Amino acid sequence: MNFDSLLSVSSPQLKEWALAQDQKDRLRGFREQFYIPQQNNKSVIYLCGNSLGLQPKNARLAVDKELKTWQNYGVEGWFEGEKPWLSYHKYCQKGLAKLLGTLPEEVCPMHQLTVNLHLMLTSFYRPTSEKFKILTIAGDFPSDQYALETHVVSRGYVASETIIEIAPPVGEWLVRTEDIVAAIKSHAHELALVCMSGLHYYTGQLFDMREIVAEAKRYGILVGFDLAHAIGNVPLQLHQWEVDFAVWCSYKYLNSGPGGVSGVFVHQKYHDNTLPRLAGWWGYEESRRFEMTKGFIPMKGAAGWQLSTPNIMALSIHQASLGIFEEAGIENLRTKSIALTQFLELVIKRINQKIGFQKIKIITPSEPSQRGSQLSLLVEEGGKELFDFLLQEGIVGDWREPNCIRLTPVPLYNTFEEIWELENVLLSKLNAI
Ligand SMILES: *Cc1c(COP(=O)(O)O)cnc(C)c1O
Repeated sequence: MNFDSLLSVSSPQLKEWALAQDQKDRLRGFREQFYIPQQNNKSVIYLCGNSLGLQPKNARLAVDKELKTWQNYGVEGWFEGEKPWLSYHKYCQKGLAKLLGTLPEEVCPMHQLTVNLHLMLTSFYRPTSEKFKILTIAGDFPSDQYALETHVVSRGYVASETIIEIAPPVGEWLVRTEDIVAAIKSHAHELALVCMSGLHYYTGQLFDMREIVAEAKRYGILVGFDLAHAIGNVPLQLHQWEVDFAVWCSYKYLNSGPGGVSGVFVHQKYHDNTLPRLAGWWGYEESRRFEMTKGFIPMKGAAGWQLSTPNIMALSIHQASLGIFEEAGIENLRTKSIALTQFLELVIKRINQKIGFQKIKIITPSEPSQRGSQLSLLVEEGGKELFDFLLQEGIVGDWREPNCIRLTPVPLYNTFEEIWELENVLLSKLNAI
């Protein structure tokens, strides 16, 4: 679509265009499957699905079903009822596999994200006296930084001598894939692992994971990705790219509720179960778990990394939500997401053009293949004030200190008309400054 031709059309013309897009959008019915928060009896414009996805209406039904199973069967719910709890992780594997481009047994929902990162590091960080360093990107999500730092210390290393951070060039925001690839090459003799986000939470940059893995493979270096901002946002091909492991959370684009269950990917090549791990009984070979015998025998595949009895309520919401993605199809969602985000970018350009200078700077890459649906906007002066104004007007984004507003149009429930409305609201404020 050529968005530049819309740069200088009038606001009513733009609205007409936006309405036409919504009209022909084959995914538009999905919005009905979500609760949109209300403010002053009006639906808010929710552009914060990168932080906490909205509630799918089928979530409550899913939880209610499991509450009924508990009510009717008590402990027998593990084996009885429509969906015996014992196999609940399996009900999610197919949906996850589609989003991640994996075999079903390569993925398993479990625990929380940061916990899973530690579990994967335990298995996949295999330092030797020469190759013991971990390459990551500077300014990655804080929890990931803390996990890496404390993990290497727990293995007897000094964090500052073990973790190599690749930063953007001075004065820039984005880490270049070519810089990551060059760093892998130059540090190859001392690297054990590359571990980083696949899509950056602050800038919205999508990294070329395939290329990063391909380079690391040349030197036998393992690669793990945190896909918290990538899953359900962009299509992935973890199996084919030969990613070694991955982790994610489900409460952002996957709409599985606050603190929803996380998950792990372990490539098929590790399914012979020889990797060391921190184990618990839920990862024990299922057919023999209740023999309660000594000596850990892992389940095959990612499921063998489960430690504890899962939270069935959280899993039920997760499964319900994954069903919506299966119905919509990640490729279709991606196509709409690209268009919505390009439209949002256009609106920001129009605003800057109207007020005569670059008031709002987009730091997210403008090339659609290098981003997901989020745009990160820097507003040097009065950014927080602008953000608060948007909130008061019923437009929900999120604020990152010191001057960044992140806005994320989600293809399952956002519309082109909403983005058009954002232009009006932003202009009403900025014109007044
Ligand atoms: C959201 C997010 C987290 C949050 O971790 P939790 O353990 O779920 O609290 C961690 N890392 C990244 C990259 C994230 O985007």
